[in-house]
Amino acid sequence: MGNIVLLDDLTINQIAAGEVIERPANVVKELVENSIDAGATAITIEIKDGGKSFIKIIDNGKGIEPDDIAISLERHATSKIRKVEDLEQTYTMGFRGEALASISAISNLTMITKTKEQDSGIKLMASGGNIISYEEIACQNGTTILVENLFFNTPVRYKFLKQDFTEFKYIKDWVQKTAMANLNVSFKLINEGKIVFKSNGNGKLDDIIYLLYGKNIQSNLFDVDYEESNIKVTGKIGNSYVAEKTRKNQILFLNKRNIKNLVLMNSGDQAFVGSIGIGKYGFYILNLEMPASFYDVNVHPTKMEVRFKDEELVYQVLYKAIKGAILNKSFLGNEETSSKQENYVSDEYKFTTDYFENKKLGTKIVENEKYSNELIKRENKRNVDYKFIGISFKTYIIVEIDNEIHLIDQHAAHERLLYEQIKNNYKNNIHSNSQMLLLPEVIDLQHNEMDFVRNNLDLIKKIGYDIEFFGDNSIKINGTPDIEYRSKTNIKNMFLDILDEMITNSKSPIKDIEERFIATVACKAAVKAGMDLTKQEVDYLIQNLLTLQNPYTCPHGRPTTVKFAKNGDITIQ
Ligand code: ADP
Ligand code: MG
Repeated sequence: MGNIVLLDDLTINQIAAGEVIERPANVVKELVENSIDAGATAITIEIKDGGKSFIKIIDNGKGIEPDDIAISLERHATSKIRKVEDLEQTYTMGFRGEALASISAISNLTMITKTKEQDSGIKLMASGGNIISYEEIACQNGTTILVENLFFNTPVRYKFLKQDFTEFKYIKDWVQKTAMANLNVSFKLINEGKIVFKSNGNGKLDDIIYLLYGKNIQSNLFDVDYEESNIKVTGKIGNSYVAEKTRKNQILFLNKRNIKNLVLMNSGDQAFVGSIGIGKYGFYILNLEMPASFYDVNVHPTKMEVRFKDEELVYQVLYKAIKGAILNKSFLGNEETSSKQENYVSDEYKFTTDYFENKKLGTKIVENEKYSNELIKRENKRNVDYKFIGISFKTYIIVEIDNEIHLIDQHAAHERLLYEQIKNNYKNNIHSNSQMLLLPEVIDLQHNEMDFVRNNLDLIKKIGYDIEFFGDNSIKINGTPDIEYRSKTNIKNMFLDILDEMITNSKSPIKDIEERFIATVACKAAVKAGMDLTKQEVDYLIQNLLTLQNPYTCPHGRPTTVKFAKNGDITIQ
């Protein structure tokens, strides 16, 4: 008795069926996923003419029993589920039993397969869905499927194919991604007789990344390894140096299946806020592992889309996984991480995201512990012995620590420090977070500036500006945010600069305005490149940076430090 059955009509109607084979890459995907589901540890993919004339997949998986071979080509024939409820515990890539039927209907298909229990294998040939030969054959354990002359009987679909190299690129992209999710399977991709990609199946993501992205990118990536509420997130994220203007380096897998999901995309974006440049997208290659009962893949034929039962939980876990990894790096040669980091991450989560604010679900997170001053600081200051070498271009502070030289960007570093202070005051809603000015400043404003102040008065006050209206076109500043200014800071110009910056980029939702306003105040109040710093100021800056949970970049994503190791390695945070 075989394992493959035809699904009943009820089940068929429940499994978002109807996947269409549009191009060779779809064939490769379906066949390779079958190989993975069959437990293969080595999969070879051979392509000719972009897959149009020739696709061959060889696996060392469990093979198909003789009883099952003919039925495997039937529509809705599968060994993987029996009824739709089984999906709650199904981790295989396939489950609809459609692929072999769809592919054999539009090609010449040869299947050679043998289970380890059988002494000899079977070779079956089909054309346009009809079996034309079936014979015993000596062969290895596993399954080989050859698909020739794809779309020979559907000329319209053939016509829509792109050039061979484009079709091959789709195949290659997919195979490479799949290799990153299936690290224990060795993949070999051969195009026109040449090996184009090969992974060794040794379980190391690093090896594949090195191969695909090169050493330069690899050395700017950091490990992610986080688990909460039965959801595990593992993989790599990149620093600001490898952030891009597109999402091309954002790859997410759900139980090894490559997915696209808006909720998770947004979570990733939020987690990178303040650590990479504005308008840039963080680098990540992450796999989320969770029970199949947490989600539904049965929403779309391609299975790229999934629906989570508790979206907020998944959102939150991914956010914390990424943010935690961002904050888990060494700083100025010091590896010590802080036990308070987790609190800082949850605190940032509450502040940064309003994604679920309007949904009832949100309450359980928002009502957590009160904000605390201590959150931005480590309980123990990291201790670092540094030798001050000097300052270059009145911009980069150079210090020597052990066998490394560190360049500290004085503006970026000071900006991060002030940003953390202002944000903390802001979050704590400390009304006494203004420093009163000896002489209040009266500032004349233009129309649009006045409008901005009127519309955002609460925000401006909460950040620490004590201001009042002074006639129709002027305001009076009585106090400024309670941070340490340089003695020469011109309060009036600083405020005008801040308004200018905020008005030029005004079209953003309220959470972004908050974040940006705080960052802008920090930026304008911070020392600039080109300003002279005394040794005392340098010491003050370094000492304070070392206390921060997040000292790595300025709030706009510029790295605060760059490290040159004696051996020549360069690291950017
Ligand atoms: P599904 O993967 O959704 O079950 P397919 O049409 O892709 O449907 O495959 C039908 C069945 O054929 C599978 O359920 C599986 O039992 C069997 N099968 C297909 N490819 C392989 C393979 N490479 N190794 C072993 N069994 C396979
Ligand atoms: Mg399948």
